[in-house]
Amino acid sequence: MITRSTLTSLLAVVLMAGLYFTNLPTGTAQTIVRQDEEIKKMVEEISAANLEALVRKLASFDTRHSLSTLKDKKKGVGAAREWVKAEFEKYAQASSGRMTVELDKYNVKANGQRIPQDVELANVMATLKGTDPNDDRVLIISGHLDSRNTDIMDAKGKAPGANDDGSGVAAVMELARIMASRQFPATIIFVAVTGEEQGLLGARHLAEKAKAQNWNLIAMLNNDMIGNSSSDETELRNNMQVRIFSEGIPAVETEEQARMRRATNRENDSESRQLARYMKEIGERYVDQLEVKLVYRNDRFLRGGDHTPFSQNGFPAIRVCEMNENYRHQHQDVRVENGVQYGDLPEFIDYEYMRKNAALNLASLANLAWAPYAPANVGVNIKNLTNKTDLQWEAPAKGKRPAGYYVLMRETSSPVWEKKFFVQDTNVTLPYSKDNYFFAVQAVDAEGHESLPVFPVPVR
Ligand SMILES: [Zn+2]
Repeated sequence: MITRSTLTSLLAVVLMAGLYFTNLPTGTAQTIVRQDEEIKKMVEEISAANLEALVRKLASFDTRHSLSTLKDKKKGVGAAREWVKAEFEKYAQASSGRMTVELDKYNVKANGQRIPQDVELANVMATLKGTDPNDDRVLIISGHLDSRNTDIMDAKGKAPGANDDGSGVAAVMELARIMASRQFPATIIFVAVTGEEQGLLGARHLAEKAKAQNWNLIAMLNNDMIGNSSSDETELRNNMQVRIFSEGIPAVETEEQARMRRATNRENDSESRQLARYMKEIGERYVDQLEVKLVYRNDRFLRGGDHTPFSQNGFPAIRVCEMNENYRHQHQDVRVENGVQYGDLPEFIDYEYMRKNAALNLASLANLAWAPYAPANVGVNIKNLTNKTDLQWEAPAKGKRPAGYYVLMRETSSPVWEKKFFVQDTNVTLPYSKDNYFFAVQAVDAEGHESLPVFPVPVR
């Protein structure tokens, strides 16, 4: 049954906001944006000046190449990782012992390619333990600490890596600072990985650990290059849009999952894609003048990212990346050629744009970490030929009790959810044919924090 209280209609309208906030087509109904005061406050605490200071510090190590020196106190990836660790430890002081910081070391064998000899690398990780001991959900936000210049094997030459990926690491650090003092029932991991440029090594290490230890990892947010707002060649200037990449058909499926995907035409509804849509909705709810552009591919041509080892291990994972790229300032030796400055230098970053992209991450993480668990066993009843849709599910077995559920609906040809119904029961009959729309169900608490949407499986 659809509960039709005043609250319901209010919420239904509120949740359309994410979809229309930046497009504002004329002639549509008014939208109401309802924001959680605490998330709003955290978003306001993100500072462009802090982000700039963090990026400039990261760029000051000359290079953070994964194979650069560990001995020098001021230069190289060793000094850089010690500094990030010390910063995390400072932030952890506000966490009443809940945030722990470690260098998570891992060994990589020589591979005749980007790793010439056996080496020990390390991710810098700050884990903000959830306040509910029965809540096993884990959320990860990452950037990659390592940098590179033109020659991928050059571990000595300057590689400031301000944007790639100083921007991602700085955002991770700023969020760790702000979120450390807040209480979330779920666990959040803030990580600066290494070995990205040498083959996504640090992310793979962490993804395999999560898989081996059977983590309930519900979201992995990879931030790789989120600070550049101007393109070369096409000379675009754009600090109002950001891309989120997500896989369509999951990298790993059992035969049964593949069969079910085909049977339900689920090729555009992987868990990673649900996460991407979720971030668009939440990001646009909290961050002004930022439109999240969903790119329905896993990553760009010729490029890879740290979300991929996670999706390859079956976890929902996305990449946040600036709208336009500037190839004069990526993977380039620092030099001037024909009057043009090349190199990934801090002066080419748009720190106000970075602030908004960091805020998109913070709002998404906080909203999800405060949300109830997602509903269980979500099914669409296909027993009878009918012009309606019968959906059923179970309340989550763990975590806080949901205040209700959002049933999401969209045209099969629509890239984003278009309509929300608020339901307090664990089933609903909607007067729309199940053959003509896609549906999903989220659990929501009284403050409006919603879980990730769950796509239904057919039940009889
Ligand atoms: Zn990168």
